[in-house]
Amino acid sequence: MQFKIFKNKNLIHGISDSSFSSMRTNKQAIKFLKSLAYKNISSKNLIWAQQVFSSRVHICKQKDSGKTVKNVDGLISNIPEQILSTISADCVPILIYDPKQKVIAALHGGRKCLVKGIIKNAIDKMVRNFKTNPKNVLVGIGPHIRVCHYWLKERSYKELKNTKFKKYFIKRKEKIFFDLTKLVFDNLIKSGIKRKNIEDCKICTYCKYKKYFSARKQEQSPKIYKEKKPRFASFIGLKI
Ligand SMILES: [Zn+2]
Repeated sequence: MQFKIFKNKNLIHGISDSSFSSMRTNKQAIKFLKSLAYKNISSKNLIWAQQVFSSRVHICKQKDSGKTVKNVDGLISNIPEQILSTISADCVPILIYDPKQKVIAALHGGRKCLVKGIIKNAIDKMVRNFKTNPKNVLVGIGPHIRVCHYWLKERSYKELKNTKFKKYFIKRKEKIFFDLTKLVFDNLIKSGIKRKNIEDCKICTYCKYKKYFSARKQEQSPKIYKEKKPRFASFIGLKI
């Protein structure tokens, strides 16, 4: 899938689905990006975040091209042809673009990353390092598990029940559901991003577990996917 908000913006971007199978190698990533008619892409363009459920965001240097950046869940770049990449299967993929200052970011919005403040960290870094004005920033929110299906396990519930994040709880029958989408929107808006500049794809990975991948669905039905822990990938890069 691609976001309307990023069309005609001199960007390389897209989110893969299960027809490209699990996106764990550069080879698959390149195949996917080429299917979107982005030519001349090689593994040296790709940068992956290692994704450790932190709120750390890395500003990419030229030397990061072609590598996986350790111990971070977010990447920022203003270097054309660097394509920032994250993988997920229920966590929230967040793609960010400042068209004025020509800066991009890709975030792995796991619940833990979001609760620790990864969105604020990313926007603050864009403001500090690239003079981004949040009012200009465009955001795409990719497929993730939504409040229709994301119930908290006992441990997560206990972790959050006495925090400000309990406002994202929704009680249904015996379960507590958590509204990740609302948390993402609230954080973006708190960072100064305009609602009209946020495009949510509105896809739930659990509802659409065949088209995307859902880790929670796989926990319940281990045999639904042939791969062990399949992930789809989200990409954003500046064209030269
Ligand atoms: Zn759902």
